[in-house]
Amino acid sequence: MTLCHADHPATTCREGAWFGVPRTSSLVPMNDTAHNLSFISPAGRKFNGADRRRPLQEGLQGCGEYGAGQTAGRFYPIACVALEVTQRCNLDCTLCYLSDRAEMTYDPPLSVLFARLASIHSHYGPGVSVQLTGGDPTLRKVADLEALCREIRRLGMRSCLMTNGIRASRAFLARLAAAGLDDVAFHVDMTQERKGFDSEAELNTVRCSCIRRTRGLGLRVLFNTTVFGGNFDELSALARFLRDRPEVAFVSFQMQADTGRGVLRERPDAITQDSVAQALEEGYETPLHFGTAAVGHSKCNRYTSVVTAGGRAVSLLSDRRLVHRVIAALERVDRSTDGHLGIRDSVRRMILRNPRLAMRAGLHLLGCALRLRSGLLRGPVRRQAVFIHNFMAADALEEDRCASCVFMVATANGPLSMCAHNARRDLHLASPDRLEGPIGPSWWNAAIPCLSDSPDLPDLSDPLQAPLKRLKGQLRAERQNRKNAS
Ligand code: SF4
Repeated sequence: MTLCHADHPATTCREGAWFGVPRTSSLVPMNDTAHNLSFISPAGRKFNGADRRRPLQEGLQGCGEYGAGQTAGRFYPIACVALEVTQRCNLDCTLCYLSDRAEMTYDPPLSVLFARLASIHSHYGPGVSVQLTGGDPTLRKVADLEALCREIRRLGMRSCLMTNGIRASRAFLARLAAAGLDDVAFHVDMTQERKGFDSEAELNTVRCSCIRRTRGLGLRVLFNTTVFGGNFDELSALARFLRDRPEVAFVSFQMQADTGRGVLRERPDAITQDSVAQALEEGYETPLHFGTAAVGHSKCNRYTSVVTAGGRAVSLLSDRRLVHRVIAALERVDRSTDGHLGIRDSVRRMILRNPRLAMRAGLHLLGCALRLRSGLLRGPVRRQAVFIHNFMAADALEEDRCASCVFMVATANGPLSMCAHNARRDLHLASPDRLEGPIGPSWWNAAIPCLSDSPDLPDLSDPLQAPLKRLKGQLRAERQNRKNAS
């Protein structure tokens, strides 16, 4: 018996052409092929320890990644947590991480999402960044997203809308900004096969349109790009384009990974963390010093921070020794009780306690700004974070990286490493989510539209029985090929 109303997923999907590699073999739904992942499981609905940073710290220490440049587990308990508000999407990316069954699932009711927000708050405290994601979250009612933004703000956490931007009109974003949305991350790249765009350079008009829609709304703007064989040659030019957008505070490049339903699979050998870093340095036209400061495991993430102005960029992390001394000094003056470094207070205390180090750091920052030279006359000085993310293939998860993951997904049973989650998405979508209510418990999984008063929930629909219009990715491509051949 159902207890509440929830949105039903759209039953239509894009009928666009697929021009990936033709497949002749018979495919099976993904979670039937994923290997045993018993070594990594969700962290539970509630955090029961005394120190929220401790689990990540221990994970990083366990694999020798807790060096002098490490910021994760030292200043914050996690980098971000994804809250998947729908599995539906209005695109069919060639490297989509969603599962074969995604378009056959129901959206989580708001009560389920609120319970997951409480779980995120319990584990990571106020200050953590919650990514409202999917699928594309803009396929939900804007009122649902407003409610989520307000709840995230009420809990003292940060919200980030992760979207392809297609439905994120200015009016839509303005409503979310008014409800407390902090950040918007636009995913725009050639894996999306947007009609009428044949290169990353052509997609820059889409990126400019996204930026224009955010003007004056007070949102921090981020851009995500999947790096794959189809755009690697354009990476430097794209980096330069993003460098020269002062509105963009954060750019993330995610390397092709063999996971999910997308028709493209293994990453080409030419795409490595080092080759991506080199292409970005060519684009930014300056060394970026990715090895100075760390955000989690070095095989997962490369991070740097630059200042930009008028078509020039300078890395802020060029003095490795100084950066490590500042990190150590900040750690010594850290008084946070919720797991997140209070940066303003900590810097003030660091200046009082280490005036010479503070002076050196100040002079270094001034030197970075001066190295922008003529750029200072051409445009505003802005800071931009640059990130390279290296997701793992679903059948090649490394235990130490999962155990020291900084990028989690909120599941029915608590936060879980995004890579481990992606490898068994259907298992987590089918897992019952138990909610406590005034008249007793209720349950939900993605196979039903509303809460149930019984924990005995159905399994997800079999995609092999689904009509073509409910399929995406590999299964859709295979079905389409068969149809064309018959
Ligand atoms: S999501 Fe995967 S690649 Fe990213 S930090 Fe976690 S384990 Fe590493």
